[in-house]
Amino acid sequence: MPAALAPALASDVLPTFDERFGGVTALQVVGIVLCVVVPTVGWAMLFRQVGRFIALYRMGRPDPGRTDAPGSRTWTLAREFLGHTRMSRLKVVAAAHWFTALAFIILFTTLVNAFFQLVQPDYRLPLVGHLPPFEWVVELFAWAGLVGIVVLMAIRQKNHPKRAAGRDGRWSRFFGSTFWQAYYVELTILVVTICILLLRGLEAAMVQRLEPGASVALHFPLTGWMAGWWSGASLPQVAAWVYAVATVKILVSFAWMITIALQPTMGVAWHRFLAFPNIWFKREASGRTALGAAKPMTVGGKPFDLEAMEEMEEGDVLGVGAVEDFTWKGLLDFSTCTECGRCQSQCPAWNTEKPLSPKLLMMTLRDHANAKAPYLRALADADGDRERAMATVSAAAQTVPTDGVEPTAPVDVLDWSAMALVGDTGYDPEAPLSAYTPHGPDAVIDQDVLWSCTTCGACVEQCPVDIEHVDHIIDMRRYSTLIESAFPNELGGLFKNLEGKGNPWGMGARARLDWAKDLPFEVKVLGRDVEQASEVDWLFWVGCAGAYEDRAKKTTRAVAELLDAAGVSFAVLGDGETCTGDSARRAGNELLFQTLAAQNVETFGELGVTKVVVTCAHCFNTIKNEYPQLGGSYEVVHHTQLLNRLVREKRLTPVARPDDVPGMSSARNVASTAATVTYHDPCYLGRHNGVYSPPRELIGALPGVELREMPRSGEKSFCCGAGGARMWMEEKLGTRINTNRTEEALATGAERIAIGCPFCRVMISDGLTAKQAEGAGEQVEVVDVAQMLLAAVRRGEEESSPETPAEDADEPTTAEGADLPPAAAGAATAAAAAPTAAPAEEPVKAAEDADPWDEPATSPSSDDADPWDEPSTSPPAAATSSPPQVSDDTDPWDEPAASPSTDDADPWDEPSTSPPAAAEPAASEPDPWDDPPAAEDPLAGTSQGEPTPERLATAAEVATDDVDPWDEPAPAGEPAPAADDTDPAEAPEASTTPSPQAPDADQGGDPALLDELDPWD
Ligand code: SF4
Ligand code: SF4
Repeated sequence: MPAALAPALASDVLPTFDERFGGVTALQVVGIVLCVVVPTVGWAMLFRQVGRFIALYRMGRPDPGRTDAPGSRTWTLAREFLGHTRMSRLKVVAAAHWFTALAFIILFTTLVNAFFQLVQPDYRLPLVGHLPPFEWVVELFAWAGLVGIVVLMAIRQKNHPKRAAGRDGRWSRFFGSTFWQAYYVELTILVVTICILLLRGLEAAMVQRLEPGASVALHFPLTGWMAGWWSGASLPQVAAWVYAVATVKILVSFAWMITIALQPTMGVAWHRFLAFPNIWFKREASGRTALGAAKPMTVGGKPFDLEAMEEMEEGDVLGVGAVEDFTWKGLLDFSTCTECGRCQSQCPAWNTEKPLSPKLLMMTLRDHANAKAPYLRALADADGDRERAMATVSAAAQTVPTDGVEPTAPVDVLDWSAMALVGDTGYDPEAPLSAYTPHGPDAVIDQDVLWSCTTCGACVEQCPVDIEHVDHIIDMRRYSTLIESAFPNELGGLFKNLEGKGNPWGMGARARLDWAKDLPFEVKVLGRDVEQASEVDWLFWVGCAGAYEDRAKKTTRAVAELLDAAGVSFAVLGDGETCTGDSARRAGNELLFQTLAAQNVETFGELGVTKVVVTCAHCFNTIKNEYPQLGGSYEVVHHTQLLNRLVREKRLTPVARPDDVPGMSSARNVASTAATVTYHDPCYLGRHNGVYSPPRELIGALPGVELREMPRSGEKSFCCGAGGARMWMEEKLGTRINTNRTEEALATGAERIAIGCPFCRVMISDGLTAKQAEGAGEQVEVVDVAQMLLAAVRRGEEESSPETPAEDADEPTTAEGADLPPAAAGAATAAAAAPTAAPAEEPVKAAEDADPWDEPATSPSSDDADPWDEPSTSPPAAATSSPPQVSDDTDPWDEPAASPSTDDADPWDEPSTSPPAAAEPAASEPDPWDDPPAAEDPLAGTSQGEPTPERLATAAEVATDDVDPWDEPAPAGEPAPAADDTDPAEAPEASTTPSPQAPDADQGGDPALLDELDPWD
């Protein structure tokens, strides 16, 4: 203690600065000078970069609708940030990041304090500086921030690509992330939090000397113990420590600020600022993710429709063909990417060794946008004159020293005006990073990247900062398809069939009702048998697959039978239906989508349709979420939702157990259940629309059926590979998505793979066929949930009507079903509700006594809450021995329900860095697609959906009906429907889209050299 200090303290006179700290020191002066200069530079550079960000975003296209419902948006932002709700899937990461993120904000006060401590070491902020609650919060978050960043550093190391499987550690979510930037940010936080804690300890040491009456334990509860480290030091010595630590803290903080100001592509740092506006401006003001409806294509900021096409002006662009064609929100998205790799770890394309990684895609678009920004700015200054803009950029480049010493030398400059956004990069499939070239020269993103996407939405669902990958991918596809006519060859056939026949298979409209031919009741057709939709309960939207695809037709029939059994009246459109346009839209053919959608909306309007039940997840999503964009808003339910409601209302009662009628459905000629079932969530039902519970409730309602969840289920479900128009494309890259998913399903040991979408059904069936050719899963079947329900309802009927032979009940005697015996009609209904015995309008009351929830008798706690009803994050019991209970007070329409989550399985919640199932290179295994195994079904081993000439020809002729009671052979003399009037062998042709524009691939310059330039100067 300085000699002058003791008398001052003893006399209660406030000691002077010199008395306390021995006067100004050289260390103090140096610290003050550095901490004035460096932060001044830091703030200036930060504001300059913020200005550049704003300028960059202003170069993007308008994006209307991003500021509606500001209250809701603000609430969403507060919820997502304070609750870290978008990060909660990785719970340990979320907790560690929560403390680190809040520490960044709360501990800003310590940075302010540190500046003043350089002048007066014992300085405390006015009002709160010595207020215990404030001090406790500061200390808590300083320690928590320190622990949090250490945990995050450990997690990054645990998941480092060098520890992960796959070539170059591909299965690490951090594969391709910029590691030096992450390390730098982590070390900065580590050093700063340590400095904060040291300063608190030093402050405690000073309080002990200057305020003997103050309680160190009260003011420094978590750092007071550190004061002992300086017990032998004098106050000036303690002050010197304060100067040194405060200087380090300030310089490290502002060095970070300068660094990120110089690195606009440093998303791992910039997301601390940009995530807030990115979340606030998210597509859905309600706070939900950018899934469901595809973002409408806009031209000049206005939604595009067929009428708007007439008013298009020169310079208007359809879709995104250059980075500046993205909206400002798109550009903000790219800047915000943290490179966390959550999206990458869930992406089905990446997990099957395709070049597409949503993370790498965002990073590349970000890097490209920033590199191109000077050119765009010059272009704006030159009123769109590309040559003048390039001249400006070239001149700027030539003023940059090439060796750090003047004079400057001429340098080549990339021709930004000619660089294609999507094209052939000539990438090495073994090195996926080479498919992303932000500086060209040939293209920024390889076309294989763009067309590998299934639009499954896993990336959007996972992203903690609400980046809208799917919208961007579809926008780029729109340009490729509509402007450049650059799309996979197979899509030419799809577009042609949709344009000419209104369905992907190119089948005749007459065949749309074939599925109903032998049903024991009349299927009414809207506009023919029923004038207006108001005369029936529901319009049953059959969909193209449900009408034409043999396997999907079984679902269609099952649903029709169940609705009839439950006394629900419905009608179909028959040949009045045309494709919803889902695949066309996701393939980028917005014009075709608009045409098809407008036709359906018009039909619905003419017939007064208000309520629609759908079996196809894609049709469900399109009619429910996208037709409102064209003015058609309806109540749309998926068949699992409607059937679940009917079961809850006891209008359908599944009573029979699987072992009542053993065997496969093909052997029994009936729909099939089994004792063990796993359920595959269709992406467009689950992630895109939040419908997770109803299909599971239905399976749970089946007596004696055990649901076995796959590790990737619910919102983490793995795509089947059919979405995003991938159903109609060859899968030539990597391994097969459907095989990967099928292997996961088989690994559960379940005897049935239940699905709720015809696309999924085709893909998983093909995957199963491939596995069965290898000898796996021979007793497994792929069935729709509706079929399983029908089997349970029907078996109950069979049991209660022993006089009715089951085989007879299921085997129509004629192709048309006209001579069905009464028993056959009865077999299609629940026990006491055969159409012959009850009016169609009356709810079925059969088997009410048989409560499926009393089954099985061994159920230990049938009264427990249904895990599917609860918005709980706890996982569904895998391999449960009893079905989950249906909760009557939950409306299956009230989606999204809590999705099943398997997060709890791993306390670290990290995606596996082991290779995913079926990750073997395609070349190393027999390809079941190219070389179908011998099977009775000539379509086995190939995707039913692929419109290859062979497939189309075969599909029309193959008599799969031999084993399928639902697919009756056409009456003698009637030509097979596919042969109608389509030449399946006809070469695919481009759609009726604007003329292609050949991209100018000319370019120049050395990308490495360009990297050295300040992209803004
Ligand atoms: S939508 Fe699915 S396939 Fe497409 S990038 Fe995202 S995760 Fe990958
Ligand atoms: S999840 Fe989002 S923030 Fe993370 S890498 Fe993917 S796009 Fe970037």
